[in-house]
Amino acid sequence: MKTIWAKSALLPSGWASDVRVDIDVDGRISAVQSDAAAAGTTTDMLLPSPVNVHSHAFQRAMAGLTERRGPNPSDSFWTWRQLMFRFLDRLNPDHVQAITAFVQMEMLEAGYATNAEFHYLHHQPGGVPYDNIAEMSSRVAAAASQTGIGLCLLPVHYQFGGCDGRALTDGQIRFGNDLEQFQTLHDGAIASLSSLPTDTKHGVAPHSLRAVGVETLKSYATLFPTGPIHMHLAEQVLEVDEVQAYWDARPVEWALDNMGLDARWCLIHGTQMTPSETVRLAQSGAVAGLCPITESSLGDGIFDAVRWLDTNGKIAIGSDSNVRIALSEELRTLEYSQRLRDGTRAALATSELSTGHRLFEEILRGGAQAAQRQTGRLEAGHWADMMALDTDNEHMWGRSGDTALDAWIFAGDDRLVRDVWSAGRHMVTGGEHVARKAIIAAYKRTIDDLKEAL
Ligand code: ZN
Repeated sequence: MKTIWAKSALLPSGWASDVRVDIDVDGRISAVQSDAAAAGTTTDMLLPSPVNVHSHAFQRAMAGLTERRGPNPSDSFWTWRQLMFRFLDRLNPDHVQAITAFVQMEMLEAGYATNAEFHYLHHQPGGVPYDNIAEMSSRVAAAASQTGIGLCLLPVHYQFGGCDGRALTDGQIRFGNDLEQFQTLHDGAIASLSSLPTDTKHGVAPHSLRAVGVETLKSYATLFPTGPIHMHLAEQVLEVDEVQAYWDARPVEWALDNMGLDARWCLIHGTQMTPSETVRLAQSGAVAGLCPITESSLGDGIFDAVRWLDTNGKIAIGSDSNVRIALSEELRTLEYSQRLRDGTRAALATSELSTGHRLFEEILRGGAQAAQRQTGRLEAGHWADMMALDTDNEHMWGRSGDTALDAWIFAGDDRLVRDVWSAGRHMVTGGEHVARKAIIAAYKRTIDDLKEAL
């Protein structure tokens, strides 16, 4: 059993002072008490730690390499994807494990307690499965074992190169599985999680409407009857055009009418939706997995968070391409995108909650739903997923409650995150992951190894 004490903490009932949190041996919160005497590990400001709902860990190793214009004057997502495919030809399981550990370490240091990994790099270069078809999944699990992050593994089903069912290109061949092979891989991936702690979860991820056949997509929720289902949806204009051309409906329309979207689903991006699609999808109960930094990096467009939240839609945050892993910056970017589009201020605040408080509460709730993890609340029975902010610094000085949270998000950054616990595992202390040195050394060796690919 562990005890954490905080000068202030965000409880389900609101801000409280002198809060004591007890954690049981399994990593769940066993008791929360305010106005308590200091005991155990003492911190300044304690918050629940959110889930990072969308990540492709290996893409982190491409950061910094994709900022030049290609031969195509309107350089776009599609040229970025070309580089990704070239890079993919080199990655081996050791590389993937080292990059994933680095990514998970950065997530923890940013304040996330959980990594929902949308894992689609499965096979050897050329597309032949490894002897263990779930080898790459087992490497993601090994990384989680080293970093102590809460893992929600989402093996990705990627079968076709487009809506017409065309074959995968060379660059996509390492992702590819037909349904039968994918089911084998999915079972293997789940088996590879057996040595991880009991907070570990798994779900499934049809990559996108382009990548899985129509009939399979229609029966996805029945084929995989439990656990979360995540899918990219309505990210790029070209994708909308392609779905419309082949299936005579826009992606969100088609998914709503054919896939039985509900609270099990987390749809990633939604940056290309009409106002009526935004309302209908929000009403389905599915979570919108937003990745504001990556969506900015790729020029995807702006998610209509004002309309979505007005319709009681649920949101969560993901770091997606992992070009930069920064929780406070994701929230700031999301809010600023709305202000820039609408010419407003405090776009996502409510009459009761400040912008920062509203956003933080929303992503805690949406992240818990999207990962089907009992998290997001400092409350007995929930996993002890928590982060402590340093309020003694100049950015947060003189602020408390909502204004302190706003100061962290809008004036400060993730350097103010001092401690992070994932299901009670105290993985970040003094702002640094406990295995930082070894993880960085392995990551640097990997980058050296991959250099000639790029
Ligand atoms: Zn993605």
